[in-house]
Amino acid sequence: MPEPIIDLKNVNKWYGQFHVLRDINLSVAQGERIVICGPSGSGKSTMIRCINRLEEHQQGQIVVNGTELSNDLKQIEVIRREVGMVFQHFNLFPHMTVLENLTLGPIWVLKKPKAEAVATAMKYLERVRIPDQAGKYPGQLSGGQQQRVAIARSLCMAPKIMLFDEPTSALDPEMVKEVLQVMIELATESGMTMLCVTHEMGFARQVADRVIFMDQGQIIEQNTPDAFFDNPQSDRTKLFLQQII
Ligand code: ADP
Ligand code: MG
Repeated sequence: MPEPIIDLKNVNKWYGQFHVLRDINLSVAQGERIVICGPSGSGKSTMIRCINRLEEHQQGQIVVNGTELSNDLKQIEVIRREVGMVFQHFNLFPHMTVLENLTLGPIWVLKKPKAEAVATAMKYLERVRIPDQAGKYPGQLSGGQQQRVAIARSLCMAPKIMLFDEPTSALDPEMVKEVLQVMIELATESGMTMLCVTHEMGFARQVADRVIFMDQGQIIEQNTPDAFFDNPQSDRTKLFLQQII
């Protein structure tokens, strides 16, 4: 077996007294696409935020792309370059145009020449099908367009791993599809390692190699999407699936 690109071993985390992640073990192979689901408050966001050190774990080991996460700021910087993240609420810079949002990181962090950063940005805006919006500000775009900008912005940093935290749950229903379509294309065409917190079952069935179910800070069950949705094993998973279907 090749080295996993993400490896969590016995990871535990507390917020004060609250034990939010309990003995999480998760190995992700390069190119693997994982969907994470589970009830609100089960620790899904916390777990994926630990992978790029937006949150710190207190026990256990997290290794990302061969580097163990610790308090070493240099290593955190190295890891963040390899890990892109897309949030529920887009988190675009509101005072910058779409193009400026996309070129900021490549120019200042990756030290790319401006012309190259612009060319890359336009390539990804085309890929998410909004090249015509390059000169607009985020506030002038629909939610679905803003989320596609956020995805393009992450891709401009050429990450090895993409983390998505409920990327469609703040969108109006008619915009969910356009964002999922972009994510499906990314998953099937890029070979990128993806971890996506979502309850979109169609997406999970179409692209996921593995679905992980979390509850109360633990991974309760994991399986291929068809086995997971058609034949859930634990009562907690069954109850959860009854609620989302
Ligand atoms: P999920 O993404 O599955 O909804 P989260 O990882 O956001 O769950 O949160 C898990 C639990 O941790 C929740 O009970 C939440 O209230 C709590 N929590 C999340 N962030 C913090 C924080 N910064 N401080 C204290 N508690 C938090
Ligand atoms: Mg969450």
